[in-house]
Amino acid sequence: MNKDCIFCRIIDQEIPSQVIAEDNNVLVIKDINPQAPIHYLIIPKKHVVDIGALTVQDTHLASSLLLMAQKLSTFPGCDQFKLHSNNGPAAGQVVFHIHIHFLAGW
Ligand code: AMP
Ligand code: ZN
Repeated sequence: MNKDCIFCRIIDQEIPSQVIAEDNNVLVIKDINPQAPIHYLIIPKKHVVDIGALTVQDTHLASSLLLMAQKLSTFPGCDQFKLHSNNGPAAGQVVFHIHIHFLAGW
């Protein structure tokens, strides 16, 4: 938990969010500024700044993110989807806690 991190505070329920799915490692919320008819954020519950900061100890966590995308793809309107993850400010990362954007519903 990093108290300066908005996603850690959402995971700790200090800040409200619309939760779509959850498992032991991962939380999925609705993006507040959707860029597609369906726009979810797949967020590890552990604070990791970006993909570059993952270590071999995070192997299970990293695979949990993709398996959560697969689970979301079974939800109505979600069978065809895009994933993207901004890593670093130049790539558009604004929240420095890994998240994968799940876009669907066209
Ligand atoms: P990125 O630019 O990849 O760091 O994306 C950050 C994303 O987090 C943006 O799409 C924002 O709309 C989204 N976001 C920021 N704050 C919240 C929040 N409180 N609840 C849901 N989504 C948020
Ligand atoms: Zn965090």
